Amino acid sequence: MPPGAGQLALPIYASHDAIIKAVRHHQIVVVEAPTGSGKTTQLPQMLLDAGLAGDRMIGVTQPRRVAAVTVARRVAEERDCRVGDEVGYAIRFDEHASSKTRIKYMTDGTLLRESLEDTRLSAYSVIILDEAHERSLNTDLLFGILKRLTTHKHRRKSLKLLITSATLEAAKVSAYFSGCPIQSISGRQYDVSVSHSLENHDNDYYQAAIDTAMQVHLHEAPGDILMFLTGQGEITKAVRQLNEAVSSLPADCECDALLVMPLYAAMPPDMQARIFAPCPEGCRRLIVATNVAETSITVSGIVYVIDPGRVKQKSYSPQTGLDALTVVPISRVQAVQRAGRAGRTQPGKCFRLYTQQYFDRDMPNITVPEIQRTSLLSACLYLKSLSNDIDVISFDYLDPPQPEALEDALRQLFILDAIDGQGEVTPLGSQMARLPLDPCLARMLIAAANLGCLPEALIVAAMLSADSIFAENRGPEQIARMDAQQLVQAGGITAAGQQLVKKLMEDGPGDHILLLRLYRAWQETGCNGNWCQAAGLNTRGMRFARDVEGQLEAAIENSNSTFFERALGDGSIGRAKKRRKTSHSSEIELRQAILIGFASRLAHRMPTHNGYKTLGERSVLAQLHPVTANIAADEDGLLPEWVVYHELIATSKNLLRKVCPVDATWVSFITPKIANADVNRLRGGHREQPSQGGRDIETVSVSAAEQAAAAVVPR
Ligand code: ADP
Ligand code: MG
Repeated sequence: MPPGAGQLALPIYASHDAIIKAVRHHQIVVVEAPTGSGKTTQLPQMLLDAGLAGDRMIGVTQPRRVAAVTVARRVAEERDCRVGDEVGYAIRFDEHASSKTRIKYMTDGTLLRESLEDTRLSAYSVIILDEAHERSLNTDLLFGILKRLTTHKHRRKSLKLLITSATLEAAKVSAYFSGCPIQSISGRQYDVSVSHSLENHDNDYYQAAIDTAMQVHLHEAPGDILMFLTGQGEITKAVRQLNEAVSSLPADCECDALLVMPLYAAMPPDMQARIFAPCPEGCRRLIVATNVAETSITVSGIVYVIDPGRVKQKSYSPQTGLDALTVVPISRVQAVQRAGRAGRTQPGKCFRLYTQQYFDRDMPNITVPEIQRTSLLSACLYLKSLSNDIDVISFDYLDPPQPEALEDALRQLFILDAIDGQGEVTPLGSQMARLPLDPCLARMLIAAANLGCLPEALIVAAMLSADSIFAENRGPEQIARMDAQQLVQAGGITAAGQQLVKKLMEDGPGDHILLLRLYRAWQETGCNGNWCQAAGLNTRGMRFARDVEGQLEAAIENSNSTFFERALGDGSIGRAKKRRKTSHSSEIELRQAILIGFASRLAHRMPTHNGYKTLGERSVLAQLHPVTANIAADEDGLLPEWVVYHELIATSKNLLRKVCPVDATWVSFITPKIANADVNRLRGGHREQPSQGGRDIETVSVSAAEQAAAAVVPR
């Protein structure tokens, strides 16, 4: 179906012939165009309609799940097809694509996983690495992987690669890809007048944003407002506060009605769709968004932008393993990008809640790429599994990661048995890489298959993969402690539901086992939604977990992997599930599997109080997170000596989140391996040495730890 008049008016069509010509004549092309030009929605269609897809697919990667889905829906609508037919998408745990699909939107992580199964990516004729300016970890890895695939000696000559970006340092990327051509498309941008505030709002940027929004609404001409905040919690609060402010305006106020809408990645799809619905007459929209509206999602009709100059950003310390999700200043490139959102359809205004001087002198110039501020555990495992001759240290990165981060990843991979003493990937490691889970959860599943508790471990992995199991992000302890009045206010949680949560964690099982028990209890109700509400659980989260459980199960059944032989050997996992209910002893086995999976995240209690010390290159002191499910203490009130944790978060204190108590006897099988993780051996020189000897020893130690752990449990 040819593009409609609305689409043809988008700036990218002005360069249609030049782009098609460049792609026909060159294997790699960089396309640089401002946001809203049509890169994401139109470029793939242009290539398809020009016959450049041949009989394969055009794959388009997005760093964000939400963008992959919304864009696929939009393009399917433009082409008048159902999602999953000509236009489809694939994100982790959710795929709508078929043999009919010609344009497939996907997350960069999904393409990375596909490349493990098919290193030549033979399903695709064209790959578009979209939103490359975001410099997400996975997009950066794909840069290197696709460079290899298009240039090394067994390269795929017919594969076309496009890198598209709004603000990328195009020259740098072109240089990285051996001087490939750059197609620059100028957008149709109206003037945006930028005003800076007279003071910097450090801690009060939130209130300053709210106040500015009301000022704009009351005093500026018609036009929608886009306001940036940093996260879901802040946005929900702002929406409530703004609605209250509007309803308390005097009745004779002459301004339009104000429709306040949130926009963030974890928002349910039906609410996201509202963002694109036309605004009712006589109404102004105020969209309160995270960074997702900076470049990935373009909302039309925006005339005013409010930019507090903040973004929530992940950072990771490879030395201590501490993760932090902190609000940090945006970069100058981002500030310009945000302002640009105001001038897409007419001249606009941008209100920056920081001073001109701060913008000119102190604001960071560019955003640090994710590869330089995140854990590289799964990245290293992918690279190593992709090909034995990839050396993660000397790999051709666009911007190399910190050496400490690579060393930390190698150390953890060794502890998880994913690489051997010479740093080469083990068969177990390549199986881990193929599961759509982080390496720790993948390792846990493999251990569980050996220990005979795979159905339980699948549930735990699925529950941990759902964003929010507890409604309103409460923790089980918070639910248990609510008094009668709070229960009424919570509107949904009933006294009986609260009792159930309390009872399931009475014996202090920690988070993982509690998640398992909650899921089992829900299953017994026939997966009843009211039951979830009564117990303070998020029905959507629980259903998501159920889907994930099914998908993981299918992935394992289809893998035909020897690592799951025991679990698959006596019939399908499904049948195994029917045969058994979770018993006390299977919970013990599950804890062992969790320990083996999270062996790189062990914490030891201090001798005389309930603080924990993590095991690692450099240990840190940490407390249990306040939302941790009850963990049994002894008569002296001391918590278990050993726990493993899912996350170690740096806030004002260091906190362990999602914690499972483990037995000291089992830990003693693991600690020698931790002591043995010699980074110098793992990182270098493995090429020169015959690798066989080392590998044997390590592979034996894997099963030895598992068997030994199994032996100490009374069955
Ligand atoms: P780019 O990738 O260059 O930023 P896009 O292809 O995302 O540009 O957007 C091009 C145009 O399509 C924009 O005007 C945008 O508003 C519109 N658009 C994109 N997604 C949707 C959607 N889901 N619904 C309605 N319009 C959309
Ligand atoms: Mg785009």
